Amino acid sequence: MTEDTTPSHENRFATTAVGAAANATYPHDGGTNDVIPPLHLSTTFEWASGADANEHDYSRESNPTRAALEKQLARLEGGEHGLAFASGMAAISTTMLSLVPPGGHLVSSDSLYSGTEKLLTKLVAGHFGVDLEFVDAREPETVAAAVDSETDLIWAETPTNPLLRLCDIRSIADIAADHDVPFGVDSTFASPYFQSPLELGADIVVHSTTKYLNGHSDSIGGAVITDDDDLFDDLAFSQRIGLGNMLSPFDCYLVGRGIKTLPARMEHHQENAMAVARLLEAHDRIARVHYPGLESHPQHDLAAEQMSGYSGMLSFEFDGTLTEIEAFVDGLEMFTPGASLGGVESLVEVPSLMIPDEVSHGSATADVPDNLVRMSVGIEHVDDLCEDIRTALP
Ligand SMILES: *Cc1c(COP(=O)(O)O)cnc(C)c1O
Repeated sequence: MTEDTTPSHENRFATTAVGAAANATYPHDGGTNDVIPPLHLSTTFEWASGADANEHDYSRESNPTRAALEKQLARLEGGEHGLAFASGMAAISTTMLSLVPPGGHLVSSDSLYSGTEKLLTKLVAGHFGVDLEFVDAREPETVAAAVDSETDLIWAETPTNPLLRLCDIRSIADIAADHDVPFGVDSTFASPYFQSPLELGADIVVHSTTKYLNGHSDSIGGAVITDDDDLFDDLAFSQRIGLGNMLSPFDCYLVGRGIKTLPARMEHHQENAMAVARLLEAHDRIARVHYPGLESHPQHDLAAEQMSGYSGMLSFEFDGTLTEIEAFVDGLEMFTPGASLGGVESLVEVPSLMIPDEVSHGSATADVPDNLVRMSVGIEHVDDLCEDIRTALP
């Protein structure tokens, strides 16, 4: 890793995001020197031998538009290798299937995106017979107690969806290193702008690019970034040869386009979310606000230490009935009720109301309270957002 590819803010992340620090232009046939990576839709590339050999043969295995995005993703996370997947779930499932053999051992944080929880319980454990242990990763000791030399993978999401819990990436990375076990982090909520798990010792970082990286709610995608050559070889084989779940060239183009404004968007998301979080915290019908940027968040100190900002995601517990919560959501005009997050527009989701089948109760994973409301705070004018919430609250 050379110094100018390190994605810390000191090293000018915004410049990396725009792409100016890498190849400034993309010369190709005809010498057009495009300023953006051209969209290559070709499924195949003319074969040649020797000095004329082409870098690309067949687009499942590699494609110039995808290669440009994968390089950009790696640079943003300060990693060596990037892979672009057809969805966040494709990125996560490929990581699991590549690194955990049937009957293997996997330790995961118990607070997780519902899709990941289903993948783990139904497919990884249910179908492949993996010994799956959910632990409260807020306490590194519980992770340490579950891991042994037979463990194949440690998995954690931070901050978590939708409870906004954190885990100490550096401490867990140390535990993983002690046992020589790979450690993967789903860093979707933070985005590469606010958190750099590889710098903190993780081996693999995963994103749903559907969320902040693309940022415009018009592309489903995922990413895996790693520094480890062997892990990369396994993952690339699974993706390119075995599973074929790569991101299409057009979506690669969209995500690459979105990334250019990631720093500007994230600053704005965070500013608005902080204002919304403070407003909610001061309201007497809101029992609790989960936002790592608030001093009242039980892990605020950890957040301040391992993240450089807190993004636009928050959730809160409404002191009221489900009917009242539904009335609140109906009363909102700036926040569209719906799944997904990380786009420029504000969204609101009540898991118990909108995705009841996906909310676990009494299972091995962390309970999502029925009165939990999740907000993806967009980049609209902050006064409009706050006024909207004030009007809709009882
Ligand atoms: C949305 C999400 C995913 C899944 O990503 P898709 O692109 O929807 O497949 C995984 N992890 C987290 C934290 C998410 O928010």
